[in-house]
Amino acid sequence: MKTSELLATSGITLEDLVSSAAFESARLRAKERILQAIRKGEIRKPAVLDEIRARKEFFSHLLAQVLVSCVGDPFLLRRYATAEAKAAYQQMLADFYSEAGQELVHKLSEDLGVHVVFDGGAVVRVHFTDYLRLTNGMRDEKWKLVNRRLSKGWVQVSLEDFARLLQEAVREQILERMPLSVDAKICEALRPYLEEIKRELEKKKAALGSGIEPRVEMDEDCLPPCISELLRHIRSGMSVSHPARFAVTSFLLNLGVSVEDIVATFANLPDFDEEKTRYQVEHIAGVRGHRRKYSPPSCATMRTYGNCFKNAECEGVSHPLAYYERKLREKLKKQKQKKRQRKAVEGAR
Ligand code: SF4
Repeated sequence: MKTSELLATSGITLEDLVSSAAFESARLRAKERILQAIRKGEIRKPAVLDEIRARKEFFSHLLAQVLVSCVGDPFLLRRYATAEAKAAYQQMLADFYSEAGQELVHKLSEDLGVHVVFDGGAVVRVHFTDYLRLTNGMRDEKWKLVNRRLSKGWVQVSLEDFARLLQEAVREQILERMPLSVDAKICEALRPYLEEIKRELEKKKAALGSGIEPRVEMDEDCLPPCISELLRHIRSGMSVSHPARFAVTSFLLNLGVSVEDIVATFANLPDFDEEKTRYQVEHIAGVRGHRRKYSPPSCATMRTYGNCFKNAECEGVSHPLAYYERKLREKLKKQKQKKRQRKAVEGAR
């Protein structure tokens, strides 16, 4: 979507927003939104008290999208989208308590294309097609359709769960719309703001490990299909269940991957919380709590939680680590054979 389309209804041009002194506070607020998203993975929204502040929030929201688009970094884009969606979730939880707020949530649902019926009580009904779409990446049992009350195509959910569904819809919409198509001249005019954002982004990436791709000591070619598939989900930012996170974490720790690199692996998850993740990884590594290092789950346990993605090479394997070790041995054997063959050829010359 073009930025001009976003501004069409406001009567203000993007050039005004970018260069007019009247919008300096909106530009600073836009930069602050992004810095908060980078640093903490969340955006603190001020209580909007008057029309002036509401306008500033609105324009800063647009400007933040422009700034993120100028940076053009996929990690920043996902982190920003997740932080904006989380802020929307917090706002919705507060809005449910007033009639005016409920109307806003209703309007937001319409804008996001989510079909919903508000009955005025503590539950709402969401059309099952929207429900399935928005819970697609949610692995917790409670989101499974069989665990919900379904009547004539409508799924009953609590207000809190509904806010969580809309959080996902907000994130989806931001990722669909962005990056915006922004003229290079606009990005150039925003350079002072962009420089600080880029610096903070690099700092964050460095703190999370060696960038976004983990600096793993493992051989990815030898990973069992279960861990490979779960890692793919995690890296692409899909929500994954707790048993799946535990399986990946304990497996990687057993291969000698560092806590830092594992935390970095989870950085793209929509609900990523760096502190919490680090605590959990350290707990599984045995450096916290009971100080017991956990073993990765067996194939039987992986199957129980729906985390097994068995293929023909899993034949006779009862533990993902055994799969990895076998593949690694085979690979090393092949490499040695090749080396021997090379030497034999060289010796014959
Ligand atoms: S059979 Fe075992 S190793 Fe293979 S995908 Fe399933 S859980 Fe993983």
